[in-house]
Amino acid sequence: MCLDSIVGIGPKTVEMLNKVNIYSINDLITYYPKRYNVIKRSDMSVVNNGDRVVIDGVVEGQPTIVNLSSKLKKVIFRISNKNGVYNVNVFNQVYLCHELKYGMNVIIIGKYDRYKNAIIASEVRIGELPSNVQIEPIYYTRGGVNRKVIAKSIEYLLNSNIDIKDCIPDYLVDKYHFPDKLWSVSNIHHPSSVINYKKSLQRLKYEELFLYLLKVNYLKLCNSKDNFIDRKFNMDDIYKFISKLPFKLTSDQVTTIEDISLDMKSKKRMNRLVQGDVGSGKTIVAMIASYINFLSGYQTALMVPTEILANQHYNDALSLFSDVGMKVCLLTSNVKKRDKNKLIKEIANGDVDFIIGTQSLIQNDVDYYNLGLIITDEQHRFGVNQRTKLQNKGKVPDVLSMSATPIPRTYALTIYGDMDVSNIRTKPIGRKDVITYFKREKDILEVLNLMKREIDDGHQVYVIAPSIEDDSDELDSVDKLREKMDLAFSKIAKVDYVHGKMDNDAKSKVMNNFLNGKVDILVSTTVIEVGVNVPNASMIVIFNANLFGLSTLHQLRGRVGRGSIQSYCILIAKESSDRLKMLENTNDGFMVSEYDFKVRGEGDLFGIRQSGDIELKLANIKRDFDLMLRVKDDVVEFLDIYYDSDKYRELFNYLDNFVGMN
Ligand code: ADP
Ligand code: MG
Repeated sequence: MCLDSIVGIGPKTVEMLNKVNIYSINDLITYYPKRYNVIKRSDMSVVNNGDRVVIDGVVEGQPTIVNLSSKLKKVIFRISNKNGVYNVNVFNQVYLCHELKYGMNVIIIGKYDRYKNAIIASEVRIGELPSNVQIEPIYYTRGGVNRKVIAKSIEYLLNSNIDIKDCIPDYLVDKYHFPDKLWSVSNIHHPSSVINYKKSLQRLKYEELFLYLLKVNYLKLCNSKDNFIDRKFNMDDIYKFISKLPFKLTSDQVTTIEDISLDMKSKKRMNRLVQGDVGSGKTIVAMIASYINFLSGYQTALMVPTEILANQHYNDALSLFSDVGMKVCLLTSNVKKRDKNKLIKEIANGDVDFIIGTQSLIQNDVDYYNLGLIITDEQHRFGVNQRTKLQNKGKVPDVLSMSATPIPRTYALTIYGDMDVSNIRTKPIGRKDVITYFKREKDILEVLNLMKREIDDGHQVYVIAPSIEDDSDELDSVDKLREKMDLAFSKIAKVDYVHGKMDNDAKSKVMNNFLNGKVDILVSTTVIEVGVNVPNASMIVIFNANLFGLSTLHQLRGRVGRGSIQSYCILIAKESSDRLKMLENTNDGFMVSEYDFKVRGEGDLFGIRQSGDIELKLANIKRDFDLMLRVKDDVVEFLDIYYDSDKYRELFNYLDNFVGMN
């Protein structure tokens, strides 16, 4: 059923809804309110200065407009009710001046200024307050999409008798006395009472977690019922390869490689997570795994979250494997159509051994000859669907995941299913800890001097801004900072910039110039957050540091200190904060995540992707972890009983579709 089959929703509305990523009935119905507006008449005898108030009354006299500046206008009028007379100020809604007439009933929602007996209204509605309390949903919008359009569309949908799929097996619905699905959804959009809201929330969270964990565990089961790749390779060849590397591997790198080779030789599929802080040297481990796979005659796919990182790994692989006859290729959305067709043929015919790329690797038109190993770098950036889609490109490929984000083990097991974990704790010899300073915005000159010192020493500097461009005076942007840097350093340094909106050729050109030392100062957004490796960069200066999450700041800091030179991270904000102090005091990613985990109430868990195909809209991995553990038990039991039966075939088919299994 499509959106415009709902009575009341026309093509214009569909277009609007698409702008906020609503494409299907399911998208629309699960477009849950961001928060609620409680419409309840305020008792004006108890409200304090600055409180939010809701009152109604009759317009006294004609509203007038006051011009405060060329851009800012204010509409003022008075209303009266049985409690008295109030002044109302509304900014910029000039049309109200014509709409409101003397004697009209209006509802005013806004902030109360006790001293002026005035309400600074955020909303003026025509009408009277109903006697019962109203709870109105407020939906997130962007791109000029009107909230009311979203609210109306959802109302049409809820009134249209649709049949929505309930994914909780009936016996579990009974066990927990869960309410009806449609009723629950309605109660999230328009809560009929606090109790009903809570009941509905619990039920829908359960369902989200159930589906998610069912996917993870179902796949694991499918995999374990499959066989494995019977490999033949000689460890001596691996050691020989290692001995030719330009550096000596750390003991944890060696142990991890041994874990991997044992997995790959064993009579079961490998499913291993390599955890190691930024700069600990995970890439070479991934490369050696791909070499083992190559020696045993199979293709490897390495999937990374950004084009920049894909390019970098590709170049690394080219130089590592040029002598051993292993063919490497790069597949990203950047590859031109003609080249892409050729590449796709080579991949399908087995003419290439090691395929490195972004999500392009999982597109439908990419078939592999004999995929034996899949590696995801920065794996927390990918959702379960993406990971399984890649897995399903091979028969029974071994799976290796790399992450700089240390996750407590119980979480990892629950979120990713059972996987073995190798830790790289030791950093390569000669690494110095990055020194982190906090600086106030007004101390910018001091910062510029610190930057100059690095540049004079022949090192390079990253400068990070929270946005690409910004018209306000509040924030620094890539645009503004590159002008500033140009102004400050034009005589002694070459400044360039990179951000996500640039086309890929331009991006890789800049990155290559930075890598080759042709650019001294690189102004960037967080596109360089993960993976980027330029060992000669010794300083990263992060503007508006308070706007970034802790894990992002730690990742960004990890861009420096990747060689033997002493490196620095400078965090700039108006004021310091506990979070920034925390970063000044520790370099240990594990402590940073633990802290993040303790402090952060909502949002993502260490930056683990929780959007898109994980589809957790109401549940939160951290806040609802206890519920998650219970759901996991239910899922395991469910699979135990029904995996081989036909009773819930429909649900399994639904999963198959979801994760693109064959
Ligand atoms: P990350 O774990 O963050 O992915 P990388 O794999 O990119 O880190 O490694 C960071 C840098 O350290 C790279 O320049 C890499 O070549 C180098 N490196 C990796 N292992 C060692 C080692 N054992 N000794 C010295 N340098 C190493
Ligand atoms: Mg890396």
